[in-house]
Amino acid sequence: MTDLPTPKPGILDIAPYVGGKSRIEGVAEPMKLSSNENMLGAGEKAREAYEAAVRNIHIYPDGRATKLRQAVADHHGLEPERLIFGNGSDEVFALLNQTYLTPGDNIVTGQYGFLAYRISALANQASVKLAPEPEFKATPAALLEQVDDRTRIVYVSSPSNPTGSYNTGEEIRRLHEALRPDVLLVIDEAYAEYVTEPDWETSFPLARDSENVVVTRTFSKIHGLGGLRIGFGYAPLKVAETVDRIRLPFNVSVPGIEAAVAALGDEAHQKASRDLIHTWRPRLTQAIRGFGFDVLPSAGNFVLVRFKDVDQCTRANDYLNSKGVIVRPVGGYGLPECLRITVGTEDQNRAVIDALSEFAAS
Ligand SMILES: *Cc1c(COP(=O)(O)O)cnc(C)c1O
Repeated sequence: MTDLPTPKPGILDIAPYVGGKSRIEGVAEPMKLSSNENMLGAGEKAREAYEAAVRNIHIYPDGRATKLRQAVADHHGLEPERLIFGNGSDEVFALLNQTYLTPGDNIVTGQYGFLAYRISALANQASVKLAPEPEFKATPAALLEQVDDRTRIVYVSSPSNPTGSYNTGEEIRRLHEALRPDVLLVIDEAYAEYVTEPDWETSFPLARDSENVVVTRTFSKIHGLGGLRIGFGYAPLKVAETVDRIRLPFNVSVPGIEAAVAALGDEAHQKASRDLIHTWRPRLTQAIRGFGFDVLPSAGNFVLVRFKDVDQCTRANDYLNSKGVIVRPVGGYGLPECLRITVGTEDQNRAVIDALSEFAAS
């Protein structure tokens, strides 16, 4: 013991989250393709709603986010009282971890699973058990293998970041069926709107009929509102009511609520955002493969490029940076030979293709 303020055990073992880089020395306006944001930006309707909300920013938000709650319930056909809103879906994961984990418990996720699940689990003095993903996909069998009697939550992202893989509806149901009913199964569907594969299914129906399934969605990706921090979970009523006891009362902001409601109603912007990805994801994939680099199949708005080795990956990243393009090295996920590249606008994608073509030729 020292006489200085001392963090709880384990806190200092947590590596701080490093977000996607946003600056390059000497480049005024780099192309930021490092955080899977919507490169079309927010839609016009969301921007207008945000601006109009400026009149009310001296007023505390509605703590229940009633207007957004109703809009999300209508849009997805869900019961409003079963929704949990968060400061991004990241906060929903943190709330679930805080609600269900005691020291010595564990969460289970895939080897390359999203880091946000893990950080707050560790902060609750729980451990993280990772299911191996030799094929870059967390399979039900591998996840179940990790579940033990101290497991409280299993996290699956489908599509998954950073690999871009997904689980079929059948796989998710099989996983759920084999799990103990006291283990919460969280299905993170942050990239749901970009999926085209016919065997992917939203897990909203599974959650509707279960006592231990939570499905999360976000306004940060298809809706282009990452800067406003809004996400939600669809949970069993008991879970939603329990989490609500520890949620900070005003965790979603006044302009955030207004912009999110407007974004949900902006079908044209959602379609344009989807179309952009569906046009460019295959082109980007094909072009980069043509340069001799491995590109994993992706169901999200990004692609994961695997280089020959860490050295080639580092040089490719440096080369992209030198052309004003910022992508995401994913060494933090245990993939030091990979770069994750957000699918951007036509100009941005062409810049990526040109840079990697030159890099391959050099
Ligand atoms: C981007 C992303 C999210 C969304 O996080 P927010 O906190 O809602 O911005 C959730 N899960 C995964 C896997 C993501 O990549």
